[in-house]
Formats: sequence, C-alpha cells, structure tokens
Amino acid sequence: MNIILLGFPGSGKGTQAELLKRKYGFMHISTGDLIRREIAAGTPLGRKIEFLTSQGNLASDEDTVNLLVAAIKDREDGIIFDGFPRTTAQAGMLDKYLKLHGRKVDAVVLIGMSEDAVLKRLTSRRVCAQCGGIYNIYSPDYKEICVKCGGRLVTRPDDTLESAKHRLEVFKKETQPLINYYQQSAGFKEVEGGGSPEEVFGEVAKALGLEK
Ligand SMILES: [Zn+2]
Repeated sequence: MNIILLGFPGSGKGTQAELLKRKYGFMHISTGDLIRREIAAGTPLGRKIEFLTSQGNLASDEDTVNLLVAAIKDREDGIIFDGFPRTTAQAGMLDKYLKLHGRKVDAVVLIGMSEDAVLKRLTSRRVCAQCGGIYNIYSPDYKEICVKCGGRLVTRPDDTLESAKHRLEVFKKETQPLINYYQQSAGFKEVEGGGSPEEVFGEVAKALGLEK
C-alpha cells in the first residue's frame, strides 16, 4: 500500500508518517529531507536547488521527482509520501511512474485542522538565543527562560504570526488543487488532526484500514 499524507504545515504529517513507519514498517519518504540531504552532499543538483531556494523559489517538479524516484526505485510499495506531491503536475508524474511499475497510490489521507489551530501550533515555538534549546509555550513546564542555560528565549522569524499566516496562504493555494485531484479517488480519506499525536494516529490507522 502506498500512502500520501496531506495536511497544513504544523498538522503533524511527519510525526504520523514516523508512527506508521515504526508500527507497520512503511518506508517514510519526505521530499524535504531528500532535498536537504542533496544540498548537504553538495551535488550539482543540490547546488542548483540551494541557489533556487536562496532566491525564495522551490525546487522544480522535475528535479523533485528525479530525487524521489532515485529514493524509491528499489522499493515501490509500502511507501508513505510526506510533503510530496506538492503540485498536481507532481501528482501526475508520480501516478505515471507508479503505473509503469504496476503500482499506484492506494490511499490519500488529509490531516484536517482549523486555521486557528494551525496558527497556534506554528507560532508556539521559542528558541534559546544562547544554546539553541527548543521550547513550546503551551507545554506545562514552559518557563520564560531556558532551563538549561538561563538564556533568553526568542521567536524565530519563521515562527512569527505573520510568517505563519504566509506559509498557510501558500499552502492553501498549493494544496487545494491537489485535494481536488485526489478527492475523486476511492482512497481519499480525511481525519481530524486537532488531537494528540496518538489520537490522530488512531484515526489515521483506522482510515487506512490498518486498525478497527
Ligand atoms: Zn539555553
């Protein structure tokens, strides 16, 4: 079974993919991780993508799909796609590739959350200016200062409300066409993503027919 996880940034897609991997042995493919690894390795493709992203652009559909295909070529089943596809063009390329190998996307799970809940999650992180320790303002033991080194906690530019709203808008524009693309297929499911990771995992496993 091949699964695509869709959801807002902050909806916990990556966490759910990891839980599915641990419990059911899926391969977890995050194109974000693949791209970061390629950049870190300093390959020609990595350098090209690094340049594009430094200009505020995304990797092209073709480069992304090439990276993905290289990562899954030895295993075309039992994969969870996290952060991919990002566009309907990528979705079409993935369908074509899998079909060529007698496979398909069997399920698409949308982890649904209200925009308010997403914004709350995306803006809850604080980082120690001194040691880089990461904290969440909603955790019960949150203090105004770093408990490890006493440093000042700051909000990263990515975690401000303005930045979070922007990411949400970009995501909506990108993902709505994808939801439309997959919604007609029989394997499309939507689960409520507002609960704890364990609660959401129960819903995801049920939606996929892995658990009753
Ligand atoms: Zn600290």
